[in-house]
Amino acid sequence: MTGKTANISLEALGDSPQLNVDIKRFNSSGLPLVEAFYTLQGEGFHQGKAAYFIRLAGCDVGCFWCDVKESWQESAHPVIEIEEIIREAKQSTINTQQSMVNGGPIIVITGGEPLLHDLDELTRQLQVQHFKTHIETSGSSPLSGSWDWICLSPKKFKKPLQEVLKAANELKVIVYNKSDFKWAEENAALVSSGCKLYLQPEWSKSAEITPLIIEYIKANPQWQLSLQVHKYINIP
Ligand code: SF4
Repeated sequence: MTGKTANISLEALGDSPQLNVDIKRFNSSGLPLVEAFYTLQGEGFHQGKAAYFIRLAGCDVGCFWCDVKESWQESAHPVIEIEEIIREAKQSTINTQQSMVNGGPIIVITGGEPLLHDLDELTRQLQVQHFKTHIETSGSSPLSGSWDWICLSPKKFKKPLQEVLKAANELKVIVYNKSDFKWAEENAALVSSGCKLYLQPEWSKSAEITPLIIEYIKANPQWQLSLQVHKYINIP
C-alpha cells in the first residue's frame, strides 16, 4: 500500500465557494475540506488498520511543531457538501464493501481541529453507510458528532474541554520535551478509566525523545508507545 490511492480531486468538484465564516454556525450541509485519502492508520490504538481520512480545514490551536499548517486557514479550502464527501469515501473504499457488512471500514475525521465544525450530520450519514467513525482532536472545542472512537491529543496551547476528556477512548500525548510527561499525566488523570494511554514522540525530535519515552513507559507501564508508522513507511 503506497501513496494516496484515492484522493478527492477538488478540481473535479468545480469552483466551490471560499467561505471565511464560522461554518459551525452558518453551514451545516458542507465542510471545508483539505484532503481525503484512503491509507492505513499510522498511529495509536488502531495503527496498521485500513482507514479513510477526511482532513477538515481550520485550527485555532497553533502548535508550533504542527505538520499540517496548510490546514489552519479555513478560507483557503473549498466547502464540500457532506453528500459529496461521503460519495467519495464510498467510492474510494469500494473494494471493502464486504467488510462493511460487519461494520467498517474506518473513517478518520481529522484536521486541523475538526471540532471547530458541527460534525453531527457528517457522522450520522457515515454511520448510516456502516462506516466506523473515528476522530482525532485536540479536544479544545465542544464535542459534536456520533463516534465509534475518539482519539484525544491534548495541546498545551489550547487545553482540552472536560467533555472531550471524559469521552475519549484514547489519549495520545505528543512529547516534544521532558515537561510533556507532566502534561501527559495531568491529562491522564482526567480521562475515563478505560481510556488507552499513548505517548508519541514529536516527529522532528523523535530520535532524541523516543529513548526517553521508552524509559518512561518501562517505569509507568500504563502508557504505551505510539509511533507515526506512516512516516517511516512513507504513506500518507
Ligand atoms: Fe496542528 Fe493539530 Fe496543533 Fe492544530 S491542533 S496546530 S492541526 S497539531
